[in-house]
Amino acid sequence: MTQPLWQQPPARPNIRDMKVTVDAVLCEANAVCARLAPEVFSIHSDEDGEDVLAIAADGEVPAASQAAVRDAVSRCPKMALQLQE
Ligand code: SF4
Repeated sequence: MTQPLWQQPPARPNIRDMKVTVDAVLCEANAVCARLAPEVFSIHSDEDGEDVLAIAADGEVPAASQAAVRDAVSRCPKMALQLQE
């Protein structure tokens, strides 16, 4: 006999590998993502003095940052971020 759902232990969170990339043409370096997930996204100046987005760890997102990165992807006003899972 199976237990009712409310008596079963909670399901383990389904943490999968996640990678995030940016379309540098669309990105306007407004730092929305950097404010939401500063451990992954940051704004730097390039050799021409232009602000550009940098993504830590070549876009590999640690499990602890996945929720913040999902939020950043959904809130990017230029829709410049893409997730691969
Ligand atoms: S939120 Fe979007 S447009 Fe803004 S810096 Fe991040 S990727 Fe670029």
